[in-house]
Amino acid sequence: MTAHIVTAYAPTITADPPAWTLAALCLDIDEPEIFYPPAGNDAARVTREAKRICELCPVRTECLTYALDHDEVNYGVWGGLSPRERRQLVPKIGRGKKRRQTPIVHGTETGYYTHRRRGEQACVPCRDASAAIHRIRAERRRNA
Ligand code: SF4
Ligand SMILES: [Zn+2]
Repeated sequence: MTAHIVTAYAPTITADPPAWTLAALCLDIDEPEIFYPPAGNDAARVTREAKRICELCPVRTECLTYALDHDEVNYGVWGGLSPRERRQLVPKIGRGKKRRQTPIVHGTETGYYTHRRRGEQACVPCRDASAAIHRIRAERRRNA
């Protein structure tokens, strides 16, 4: 099992997760999907749910800083902010220009949700990472 698979928090972005992720409040939640709200009518409600968790999170600042430093402005709730709210914090890349898409880090849970959010089928490494994290969460709940 590789290191990134055991980092079971919603914005799992890297194969070498920074230490602050261990204190992430979204580490053990049952429905990490809420951090990647689906497009559509329910998006606002689901985003609010994720934001409520972020409000209480001890590493909210670290999470938001990480997202902004790594151009994570297109998908998911990070540091209590939606993509639109995060984009407002970064300099514009030129009006009318299409913002470049954040590359997917495959083999991570974030990769899995980013695929889904884009309406794609997740690649096998991303599916494996997501399944492994779900198994770890289930195991933790059983042992809690
Ligand atoms: S601020 Fe929100 S998304 Fe970031 S680590 Fe905390 S709970 Fe997770
Ligand atoms: Zn992938």
